[in-house]
Amino acid sequence: TPAEPLEEKGQVAPYICQRRTPLLHHNSALTDALEIMAEEAKFSGSEVRSLAFSRAASVLKALPWKVERIQQLHTVPCIGEHSRRILQEMLEDGMSAEVEKVRQSERYRTMKLFTKIFGIGVKIASQWYQEGLRTLTDLQLHQIKLNKEQQAGLLHYEDLNTPVELWEAEAISQVVRQVIEQILPGATVTLTGGFRRGKPCGHDVDLLISHPSEGEEMGLLPKVISILDRQGFLLYHSFHRSSFLSLEDEELWVSGGSSTMDHFERCLSIFHLGDPAGSRPGATGVQKLGALWGLARRPVPESCAWVDLVVTPSSQFPFALLGWTGSRNFERDLRRFSKREKKMTLNSHGLYHLEQKIFLPAASEEEIFQHLGLEYILPEERNA
Ligand code: ATP
Ligand code: MN
Ligand code: MN
Repeated sequence: TPAEPLEEKGQVAPYICQRRTPLLHHNSALTDALEIMAEEAKFSGSEVRSLAFSRAASVLKALPWKVERIQQLHTVPCIGEHSRRILQEMLEDGMSAEVEKVRQSERYRTMKLFTKIFGIGVKIASQWYQEGLRTLTDLQLHQIKLNKEQQAGLLHYEDLNTPVELWEAEAISQVVRQVIEQILPGATVTLTGGFRRGKPCGHDVDLLISHPSEGEEMGLLPKVISILDRQGFLLYHSFHRSSFLSLEDEELWVSGGSSTMDHFERCLSIFHLGDPAGSRPGATGVQKLGALWGLARRPVPESCAWVDLVVTPSSQFPFALLGWTGSRNFERDLRRFSKREKKMTLNSHGLYHLEQKIFLPAASEEEIFQHLGLEYILPEERNA
């Protein structure tokens, strides 16, 4: 089946996965405003409103021109009435009073502060807000109970909210690669997430681990973690066993089929990015990472970063790669498009035709797009 044309003359496609969305675009003042509204809606518990603002922002990122007048958006899809009103304000006055009010509001600022603690979602944050808590110190004063992950997130709050730079992500990938090479030669480590989309920095490092001969990857991750930990690289880690049964498991395709949560073996960790000169005694691993500081352009401050290590069997690798490259908006629409337009369930494990009841295997991301009748979109064009 030939791919559906991506851009008809001047027409903008309705699904994000049918468009090319570059990292740098022409409408960032407008998209920033809409994204604040999307965030505020999420903070108020309105997922639907949040999605509407977020979709409107996404479509503006894909326009190859700068919007100057509201009339230019007449034929552009995905822009609802409220978004249009905000865009009109922005275009006419250079700012939106409504957006500014949100940006300044105590609730928005506090919710942002709290949700930046890893593991704290909208629900807990707004509960704290309602109880009158406003600062991180307040959390300590009130002796708020946190789980291990949240404690780690709070302890390293500043460092973890400082963006990870590309060279740091590459240094970490390299360390993981070296450790894995000792245990299972031939295994692959792929940097995914925002960095694969060409972002110069990110909030974490997403690494996908696999091996060309299926089954070899089993049992690998616990060994990798124990070596990394012994070498002093890990400030925190939590291991999640694979909850994957088999592709034949109906559950995977029918009910929660296209959920973003997948079933791979995974380790969520905080990687230590120390200054090699100032490293603690016995922290040999940190000094090894120091050998990679050749990648750094300036002295490395004591710091740390979230690292997601995910293991996939090779037959699921292209699906996992597509699923973990993001962006979240791109993934959401890819799955929505599959279900609504093609009667297929797509997730990070595979692609299943719900009517023909068959799996559509793929050896590359390109083949997945082909199965869906979509033109291939490069990772750098998935920044919706
Ligand atoms: P950033 O640079 O801020 O990290 P990002 O695009 O890399 O941006 P992530 O939150 O790291 O954002 O997510 C990357 C991709 O991995 C997303 O597309 C998301 O769907 C996927 N992902 C994240 N967590 C999970 C999970 N627990 N299960 C399955 N997929 C996930
Ligand atoms: Mn990421
Ligand atoms: Mn991640």
